[in-house]
Amino acid sequence: MMYEFKVSEMAEEFGVHRNTIRNWINAGTLPAKEGPGRKYLMEFHEYQLLCEKFGREPHVHGTNHVNPDALGALEKADTEPLNITGKKSQLVQDSSWANACLTCGTCASACPISGVDGLDPRKIVRMAVLGMDKELIESTWPWKCTMCAKCEEACPANIQIIALMRKIRGSRDRDKVPGPIHKGVSMCLERGNNLGIPKDDFVYLCEVLGEELAAEECPGFATPIDVHGARVLVTVNSKEPFGEPDDMKWWWKIFYAAGESWTISSEYWEGVNWGLFSGDDEAMKTIVGRIVDNMRRLNCQVLLLPE
Ligand code: SF4
Ligand code: SF4
Repeated sequence: MMYEFKVSEMAEEFGVHRNTIRNWINAGTLPAKEGPGRKYLMEFHEYQLLCEKFGREPHVHGTNHVNPDALGALEKADTEPLNITGKKSQLVQDSSWANACLTCGTCASACPISGVDGLDPRKIVRMAVLGMDKELIESTWPWKCTMCAKCEEACPANIQIIALMRKIRGSRDRDKVPGPIHKGVSMCLERGNNLGIPKDDFVYLCEVLGEELAAEECPGFATPIDVHGARVLVTVNSKEPFGEPDDMKWWWKIFYAAGESWTISSEYWEGVNWGLFSGDDEAMKTIVGRIVDNMRRLNCQVLLLPE
């Protein structure tokens, strides 16, 4: 027996965000597959196991059970995009968006920058399902978008607008990514942080700042670099050591006053991952992986990111 659900329903039932359900599905934690009408299907016993894990009774009603034999035709009918241009989009991750998007404009109403240079999330979704990839990739809209996700939160049809924005960004030639974003990503991959600050300079700066703090108001303070077994691993936004080093001391004073056990890694300490903003998933994964390695190497329990 199969169990049929919408992402929004499952999220509400288990008290988690819709993106959490999607992440579970993508990671295979929730073994469900796409069904017709923006719904997902999973074996009923898998749903029961999930309920057990959350300590709750399965929520069962007639409409959640489907006949697997009827699915083939329904899937085809419901996921075939209505595309009057005949162009196939490489940006659309779910062909059901074409029918699912109601063009209601709720996303545009929720967007804090709707109208800026013509940006309109509803228009972006519609252009994507119409296969207007080139126009979207060349437009400035995805780079003006702050990725705040208000549009996606408001969307009654669960269109994954943020994933679409990132896909559009990631599809642009890297040398055409605006401003310093791609340069920062390249520098981070090559030299460990967005501004290319050498390891020795960073460690020296941290030590000097620590000595200043000890002389000012935190007697006995010494900046904890690479302390194995510290509870908190603190990552750093490279603009601080580069241009506003005293800002780091505010955090350190709080840790000192709280008697916290913390440390900074001497390598791969960058906490800002511009792979997220440039749509570069591979770079993002590499940069995150370095932080995870630091957590393991230093045996820390809590990760603190500056943003
Ligand atoms: S809120 Fe959702 S359904 Fe409505 S226009 Fe925007 S993307 Fe489409
Ligand atoms: S994520 Fe982008 S398009 Fe959506 S509401 Fe925020 S700024 Fe607007």
